[in-house]
Amino acid sequence: MSSIERSFDNASAESKRAPHALRPLWFAVPLATLFALAGCETPSATVKNTSHTYRTVVIDAGHGGQDNGTRSRWGGTEKAAALDTALRIAPKLRAAGFNTVLTRNGDYFVPLDGRTRISNHQENAIFVSVHFNEGPNRKAHGVETYYHSPFAQELADRIESTVTSLPGVASRGVKTANYRVLRNNEYPAVLIEGGFFSNPKEAARCATPAYREALASSIANAIISERGPLQPAQSSSAVATTASPAAAGPAPLPATR
Ligand SMILES: [Zn+2]
Repeated sequence: MSSIERSFDNASAESKRAPHALRPLWFAVPLATLFALAGCETPSATVKNTSHTYRTVVIDAGHGGQDNGTRSRWGGTEKAAALDTALRIAPKLRAAGFNTVLTRNGDYFVPLDGRTRISNHQENAIFVSVHFNEGPNRKAHGVETYYHSPFAQELADRIESTVTSLPGVASRGVKTANYRVLRNNEYPAVLIEGGFFSNPKEAARCATPAYREALASSIANAIISERGPLQPAQSSSAVATTASPAAAGPAPLPATR
């Protein structure tokens, strides 16, 4: 989360979120009007139901490059925490026989449409996006998981319950959201907010390798158990070539998820 996420794509979803419930109306009203006038809300992708057949997991580390996401003196930058967590998830899935595709494997920016394009180019995949949270109330804490397609709800439930079975990790629940990386995805897609960088205690925990490792293990275990047994096959890993900055296309939209 960051100021630049106050954007078209997040406006409707953000308004449902407790940490932003107090966001002033001057923000919501003009955007809603703009949507109505311009009709610029793109329709959702048709989602393939791979919820119990997937062999490939697209792991999306939120933000990157000039887009730090949220940042705090206790937690550092969201982009770094998200990348570190994504890089910890991938080998655990490969060890279980899955193919993995990272939308980024370094500190560079990938537009949201680039991220969904990477996902939509796969065969038989799911998409898992890793973020960390912020809110105006420093006491806000816990993990929440978002989905858009009903085909992703069970995976979202499982990830949320697995992560929040970690000691001291509270659940804020599983929620639907109209985030661009979710609604334009042709595969079941979820977005995990792994903790609040605006909460000093929680941010300090998010900054530790131990927490990120536990978070990554929980997410990977949920993905593995949701899929059920895989037939033996060679797993592979990749960083999507379309994720390179050179292929990023026109200037990015302000939305960051
Ligand atoms: Zn974020």
